[in-house]
Amino acid sequence: MTATATPRETPDEVWEDMRAGNARFVAGEPHHPNQDVERRHVLAAAQTPRAALFGCADSRLAAEIIFDQGLGDLFVVRNAGQVASDSAIASLEYAVAALEVPLIIVLAHDACGAVRAAIDSTALESPELPSNIWRLIAKIVPAARTVLRESGGVDPRQLDAEDVGIVHLRNTIDDLLASSRLIADAVDEGRLGIVGANYRLSEGTAVPHVSVGIDG
Ligand SMILES: [Zn+2]
Repeated sequence: MTATATPRETPDEVWEDMRAGNARFVAGEPHHPNQDVERRHVLAAAQTPRAALFGCADSRLAAEIIFDQGLGDLFVVRNAGQVASDSAIASLEYAVAALEVPLIIVLAHDACGAVRAAIDSTALESPELPSNIWRLIAKIVPAARTVLRESGGVDPRQLDAEDVGIVHLRNTIDDLLASSRLIADAVDEGRLGIVGANYRLSEGTAVPHVSVGIDG
């Protein structure tokens, strides 16, 4: 028996809809879609999320809320500072290969504590971090060093965490593409787009900064 395939949305279509959902959230007019009992029952058989979201674990970045999505809409992977760890990359590969999501949103945010910790760690007298935290933060340090170099070697504590966060966002997407043949191939074949956005805590806006395989 051949199932009738529902045509999947394109990366651009999904991103357009995510932007619309974010605009509803920003305006305080969310629709809260797909959150009822019927939706829960329909999804029990299988999931077909519309996008994967790879974001910082910060409690203020609640993925479904800020994009006004519901149950089964987003495949969410988060860790402190949205660092492209092995487990994050593997989870995103699953979303692309098995669930065939057409879009990965990489979501950073302003005033990120993990980014701040990476910046502070570049100061000469910085205290040692617990080893597991350091392993995570170390992946953000190259972005801090880039911005530090460009600023002519000011005291690291004076660096703007948002500037470093945007560089880290770009680095993270480069890292995903370099570390995962599966993700890079999906982009090359037009099956997957990646948008890197920075979430502004007070406005609630997800501002796109990087896009790959998508008009953005
Ligand atoms: Zn954060």
